[in-house]
Amino acid sequence: MEFELWYLLSLPLLFAAGWFFRGFESRVRETDNAALPRSYFRGLNHLLNDQPDKAIDAFIEVVKLDSETIELHQALGNLFRRRGEFDRAVRIHTHLLNRADLPGRQRSQALDELGQDYLKAGLLDRAEDAFVQLLQDRHHRFDALRALLRIYQMEREWLKAVDCARQLQREAGESHYVAISHYYCELASDALVRNDLDEAQRAIDEALTANRKSIRALILAGDIAAKRGDPEEAWRQWRRVENASAEHVPLIAARVADAMAAQGREGDALNWLERALLDAPSIDLLDIVAHRATAWRGAAVAENMIAQETQRHPSLLGFERLLEARMAINQSTGTDDGELRLLSSLLSNHTQKLARYRCSKCGFRAREFHWNCPGCSSWDSYPPRRLEELDVA
Ligand SMILES: [Zn+2]
Repeated sequence: MEFELWYLLSLPLLFAAGWFFRGFESRVRETDNAALPRSYFRGLNHLLNDQPDKAIDAFIEVVKLDSETIELHQALGNLFRRRGEFDRAVRIHTHLLNRADLPGRQRSQALDELGQDYLKAGLLDRAEDAFVQLLQDRHHRFDALRALLRIYQMEREWLKAVDCARQLQREAGESHYVAISHYYCELASDALVRNDLDEAQRAIDEALTANRKSIRALILAGDIAAKRGDPEEAWRQWRRVENASAEHVPLIAARVADAMAAQGREGDALNWLERALLDAPSIDLLDIVAHRATAWRGAAVAENMIAQETQRHPSLLGFERLLEARMAINQSTGTDDGELRLLSSLLSNHTQKLARYRCSKCGFRAREFHWNCPGCSSWDSYPPRRLEELDVA
């Protein structure tokens, strides 16, 4: 009986104890919640007052108090990176990485962000280290491979870039065959500079295996043959460019014409150039024709050819070439036409903008033709046409 009474009395006691401890826990939570916003707002306040150093210190305090603020920390680091404050972004992400209790998933995320900080800051070696570590993490592997691909491209580490691109093709199902072909073309160009023709040929064979339609690889294959002293093979390769893409003929025209001229066939070379100009009019091709005609037949013949082409395809850039040819003739005969010179200089101020090449992906304009866009890193995004011709077309 006594035992049963004690048992019945214990029930409300246990209930009271439960209520008390629940209240205690919620009071502790309230204290935490009160502490957290203060640090948050202090950090935000510093940020809004353009005191990022103090803001970082405040946010570091927040992270010490509650691991749930890791995301806030990541976001703050990314904010600094976007603002170009890479040293601050690095500080935040390094601080996160140094935390012993950081969960594995978030450690990888912080490492990824740190790699991006270094990449944006141009510290490529450190970025590479971070992304190589991330290759083992299946959640970050593809992003790490893409980042490494960018890094190797910037470092001109072409074989490593090929390796990364092939892994992305194989594992992520992405298409990188155009880029892979260009990486081998870069290797071939470097080997050509070193006069290592066998190495250049091996690289070009790989480039054409990756992309058999690669215009650049065909041009380089002709260059290698020409350097070997085999003009017939060089022509064969360059003519493949002509067959594959009339638009790209300006890129091989000087090579073809000069190789013919080297064999004493200047007349054939000029005929070939004139026919190419008729087939696919282009300012670059007109320049090549004018330059060779001046050298081989004299300024008067060149001026006549430019005049005919300018009538067929009127353009300011073409007209500028015509004025230059006329001034060259004047110079050679000792006559001076002030109005012609004035007109030429006025025109050249205007045509400088029209003479650029433009990336078809991002619109980046460049004086030189590029296989790889300096603006967006796309391959084959530059048509070999000047701005004035592109806007007419
Ligand atoms: Zn671009």
